[in-house]
Amino acid sequence: MSRYENMSASELKSELSAVNAKLAGLSAKGLKLDLTRGKPGAEQLALSEDMLTVLSSLDDCVCENGTDCANYGILDGIPEAKKLFSDLLGIPENRIIVEGNSSLNIMFDTIARAMLFGVYGSESPWCRQGEIKFLCPSPGYDRHFAICEAMGIKMIPVDMTPEGPDMDTVERLVSSDSSIKGIWCVPKYSNPEGYTYSAETVERFAALKTAAPDFRIFWDNAYVVHDLYEEKDTLADIFEACKKYGTEDRVFYFASTSKIAFPGNGVAIIAASENNIAQIKPILASQTIGHDKLNQMRHVKYFKNAQGVLNHMKRHADIIRPRFEAVIDAFRSELSGIATWTEPKGGYFIDLAVPCGCAKRVFNLAAENGVTLTNAGASFPYGIDPCDKHLRIAPTFPSFDNLIAALEILCLCVKAAAIEKELNK
Ligand code: PLP
Repeated sequence: MSRYENMSASELKSELSAVNAKLAGLSAKGLKLDLTRGKPGAEQLALSEDMLTVLSSLDDCVCENGTDCANYGILDGIPEAKKLFSDLLGIPENRIIVEGNSSLNIMFDTIARAMLFGVYGSESPWCRQGEIKFLCPSPGYDRHFAICEAMGIKMIPVDMTPEGPDMDTVERLVSSDSSIKGIWCVPKYSNPEGYTYSAETVERFAALKTAAPDFRIFWDNAYVVHDLYEEKDTLADIFEACKKYGTEDRVFYFASTSKIAFPGNGVAIIAASENNIAQIKPILASQTIGHDKLNQMRHVKYFKNAQGVLNHMKRHADIIRPRFEAVIDAFRSELSGIATWTEPKGGYFIDLAVPCGCAKRVFNLAAENGVTLTNAGASFPYGIDPCDKHLRIAPTFPSFDNLIAALEILCLCVKAAAIEKELNK
């Protein structure tokens, strides 16, 4: 219940004028602040600067097995890069394909391949099976939903909970509808809420009884090593869980170094069962001779090993932890009793849940006062948040001072929208 609900109309009006007066004062400064995309800030990018010079001659570009990274060859990634990801993710090297600069690109290709050729175990390509549907835990990652929209895949929203997607709904839907071919999952520090799936949720995913024999879980572990604190969330191993139920073919696992080193310039992987990898590779071979091995080698030489990546992530955490804490401090002191928000232990986002029907108004008010937010509704399939409630906050990119200034304006906009809602009842 909003703290404004017990106020009289005249109290609300005087509160609103006080809030609007403060907003006008801040707006007069003409600030242009941005809390939209989850990008590392300049200080974070500087952490990886030495990667740019780690290869200084052609001699640095030769793999231990003699492969010349500066030339054609190797479809599925250099052995050193496979080992790095294998050690980091706990997945055997033969079940990892190291590709190019973007996991989102691999996810798009994985769906495109399924549409055109089917997946291991498909009776026919997905595009020949009539209407195809995906479950979309929401709020979720807008670009996952954009892939479905581009492919004409019907999206079915499923509520998110702090334990992961609402598994009762997932189980009911996938067991009864063979046109549901997949589900999007960001299992650790989910985008945008920062939730990590519980061990029970992971187990229930492994145990799912699906009507579609060619159902796939798109396990986008984008924030696998993106912990802010020593005391981090732990995610159960989906492949281990699937082994128990004989469902290892069900999972496509994705990760990348985008938010480890240079976003959009990293190295991305898909990991899957041996059956899936065997189905993917010949198709991939018709798509490319191989990916950018120099970049793979650059990452290997720079990080050296999995521990090198983990040490690097601690340096990121030291930079971005105070920003997450600044957001949470601002919300606690200004928005308690008005809105709710998540307090993640990692990842890149915080979800701010304002009173129902207020998210678009907050977005517009913030824009009018110099703060750009991610579109209200962006974290939902088709851009429609049924309660008009959620706003995704990305604290990493602006300077610290700009973040604080943006938060002050944002909190006032939330207050104004919540008061207006009460006055309009
Ligand atoms: N997956 C999730 C959940 C993300 O939040 C992002 C970027 O914000 C990506 C994937 C993009 O990853 P990449 O740069 O590897 O394409």
